[in-house]
Amino acid sequence: MILEEPIKEVTLLKNFINGEWVESKGEVKDVVNPATQQTLAKVPMSTKDEVNAAVKAAKEASPDWRETTPLARVRCLFRLKELIEENFEELSRVQTQEHGKTIDESRGETRRGTEMVEVATGIPSLMMGYNLEDIATGIDEYVIYQPLGAFCNIAPFNFPFMVPLWFSPFALATGNTFVVKPSPRDPISQVKLAELVDEAGFPPGVYNVVHGGADAASILLEHPDIKGVTFVGTTKIGKDIYKKCGETGKRAIVQTSAKNFLIVMPDANIERTIPALMTSFFGNTGQRCLSGANLVIVGKDDAFYNKVLNAFVDTASRIRVGYGLDESIQMGPMQSIDGKQRVTGYIEKGLEEGAKLILDGRKPKIIGDYPDTCFINPTVFEGVAPDMTIGKEEIFGPVASVMRAENIDEAIKMANSSNFGNAHSIFTSSGKTAREFQYRIEAGNVGINIGIAAPMAFFPFSGMKDSFYGVLHGQGRDAIRFFTESKVVIQRWF
Ligand code: NAD
Repeated sequence: MILEEPIKEVTLLKNFINGEWVESKGEVKDVVNPATQQTLAKVPMSTKDEVNAAVKAAKEASPDWRETTPLARVRCLFRLKELIEENFEELSRVQTQEHGKTIDESRGETRRGTEMVEVATGIPSLMMGYNLEDIATGIDEYVIYQPLGAFCNIAPFNFPFMVPLWFSPFALATGNTFVVKPSPRDPISQVKLAELVDEAGFPPGVYNVVHGGADAASILLEHPDIKGVTFVGTTKIGKDIYKKCGETGKRAIVQTSAKNFLIVMPDANIERTIPALMTSFFGNTGQRCLSGANLVIVGKDDAFYNKVLNAFVDTASRIRVGYGLDESIQMGPMQSIDGKQRVTGYIEKGLEEGAKLILDGRKPKIIGDYPDTCFINPTVFEGVAPDMTIGKEEIFGPVASVMRAENIDEAIKMANSSNFGNAHSIFTSSGKTAREFQYRIEAGNVGINIGIAAPMAFFPFSGMKDSFYGVLHGQGRDAIRFFTESKVVIQRWF
């Protein structure tokens, strides 16, 4: 049974600037449901004047918002959290309609996004400074944290609701203002969120949304009134953005691409490991920066290798692929035709380079009567080496590359040879092996018997090497430091 679709007619999406919903004069693109191929909305490519207007609104709202007490700021966030809860199911279904992920994945995304708001409501304590009296006789010294002004987020397509929330609640709670530029591929979730922000009572200009693609992003990046940029997306673009931020003196959190290794040791609990691997490799149709990409089965024992591989392939081949608003579906389509073409291109490359295709998802088996435009089934290659194209580049789709290592040293060496360092995991029942892995692995997020090492809202979302550029990360204490600057006061009274 297909759940009711909340988006029923095509609308022209508007920008949210200075508390008003404003029609853009820019050209429009279609937002398409990747499962049904129905057009859901028209998204504008905002003009330079429109992006500048959003920044102006954020800048002008900044002094009053900064002077609003932390408790009063947090009351708006509490209201926003309530509104998200009230609209939880609709928000989740919108994500499935515009992105394609299953409804349970969307509900998980809404939950994770809500948790960011919840954690940011702790700001009156989290933002406190510290002090020491008598640093010299009769002289006291203390640190205060202050907001900087207007920040922005340039968002990716793969978590259209959650990713901007890795940053905005922390920015707003600390007294900054914000401009979000959603991905033009699936911007409706951010429109729905902005409607709730509007209702929650944030003053005009504190939170703004402008639609667009690379051009709109570039205007934000170059704007002198934007104090800091948060970007989540591909490494190539992220690297340039980080460089530009350095040149213009902006703070930056730049979270980028990944190629994650999941290592299965001979002492792993296979029954519990296989479901974790399924979610990791094929959840969100492999379009997660935390998705498993390379599966390394460790040991010289052929029987163990075959047992893990057969269980992995057999379970993957039975994943139910279809429209995510059918609750029995386990994997939705790729979010776009481009995404599907990129994935099939990598499958061809894998074949050319000599990897063995043992599960081919290119002729999708779809539950229900949907066009196969964006669908692809789970795909598995065996005999992949870390230096093959499919072993080292981010495919960002439901393709697993299986490798074999003799021991933990070789497995760690393989993973550390990657240019990326986002999230690597190990499956083992040995505390010693797990500790060794945690100590030596080059990744910002480390999973121990966890397939998707996604940090909670009160921990930073980190990454290493080509998966992250910056110093402080999104979420948690790092985000609070990122959105504030410290001032040291030394005082004495005569
Ligand atoms: P993308 O780089 O194509 O786009 C990201 C954003 O940048 C979009 O808003 C886009 O409009 C904008 N953009 C496009 N060209 C630009 C340019 N030249 N200058 C400035 N901005 C530009 O990324 P995507 O395909 O939307 O997202 C998928 C990628 O994001 C994957 O590589 C994935 O690993 C990564 N990702 C990383 C994390 C993480 O935490 N490390 C999380 C989610 C996604």
